[in-house]
Amino acid sequence: MSEVIYLDNASTTRISQDVIDAMIPYLNNFYNPSSIYTSAQNIRSKINECREFIANTLNAYNSEIFFTSGGSESNNWAIKSVADTFSNKGKHIITSKIEHHSVLNTTKYLEYHGYEITYLNVDSGGFINLNELKKSIRDDTILVSIMYANNEIGTIEPIEEIGQICHDNGILFHTDAVQAYCHIPIDVRKSNIDLLSVSAHKFGGPKGIGFLYKKSNIPLIPLIHGGDQEMNKRAGTENVAGIIGMTKAAEIAYPSITERSNCEILLRDHCIKRILTEIPYSRLNGDRVKRLSNNINISFQFVEGESILLYLNKYGICASSGSACTSNSLDPSHVLLAIGLPHEIAHGSLRLTISHETNMNEINYTIERLKEVIQKLRSMSPLYDDFIKM
Ligand SMILES: *Cc1c(COP(=O)(O)O)cnc(C)c1O
Repeated sequence: MSEVIYLDNASTTRISQDVIDAMIPYLNNFYNPSSIYTSAQNIRSKINECREFIANTLNAYNSEIFFTSGGSESNNWAIKSVADTFSNKGKHIITSKIEHHSVLNTTKYLEYHGYEITYLNVDSGGFINLNELKKSIRDDTILVSIMYANNEIGTIEPIEEIGQICHDNGILFHTDAVQAYCHIPIDVRKSNIDLLSVSAHKFGGPKGIGFLYKKSNIPLIPLIHGGDQEMNKRAGTENVAGIIGMTKAAEIAYPSITERSNCEILLRDHCIKRILTEIPYSRLNGDRVKRLSNNINISFQFVEGESILLYLNKYGICASSGSACTSNSLDPSHVLLAIGLPHEIAHGSLRLTISHETNMNEINYTIERLKEVIQKLRSMSPLYDDFIKM
């Protein structure tokens, strides 16, 4: 067993030695891909090979892939660009209550600038309601942005159906696929996806690199203005080593999506089953089946999520109570509130996100420690004390 047990793969993933080895030559090979001499042009062709590989993993064209600094930039870019370009048609955007903050804070910014945003509800499993989506569409709706899979509770949204509804109504469809890419097979054409955001560090790549897919017939204005990199759409000298590292990570992960997720599902389901049967007053958040293969999210009554994390940390177990973005605040997760959990239960939640590298010993060790921790915390809880005396 390694020194730490890393069960926080939704916040970031371990970068493999193969990815690092692929990147190092491109840190040494410092040429600017925009220069005309051979050494620089060789790097430019390498970047285009990367673009081609990535495009093929999505059934997209090379010219539809734009490298960015990651998921947050891609989400900002997609939404702000459509908002700007189509403001003559309308200023109404539909999204959901459980999006990542890089979507929700972008729509909040747009609200401030006069856009109207509909935040779709989700049911107790975290799914949007397709009828509510249809009813929310108006003449001035320009964009629907719904995440592929949720980073906290792992729910996989009905993307093909959403794409079809948007297509039938002539509305653009953006999806934040940061948790899905290289974890679930994605076909942008089959699913009618117009824009899609990805981040490398969620599938074994380095941080600070990602991409935006944009269907070719849709106009796209830059978020970052400057030079003519990325087909004149995203200025700034390319993060060459980042692009190489992200592509290497995709080359490793993409062919083994099914194999990896089958391994993860075995561990995930074992873990969920053991926790729910061995720890009383616990409940699974998110759907039992249509969930990411790496996601376990459980609420424990009468305990504080933050205290669970601190105790698990003492045992060398890295876990999370929700998204990394909310871990510094004491507000309960917006996702758990949206699926209908009362505040006090949302506060007692734990997210374990495994990877293909996680093994059964690590899971069983974690469950044993978790049982002790929950028992200990409950023994100190006046609420629990009152409850069992009832
Ligand atoms: C991590 C994450 C992001 C942000 O990606 P960064 O590359 O860290 O900016 C966006 N959306 C989801 C669903 C994520 O999990």
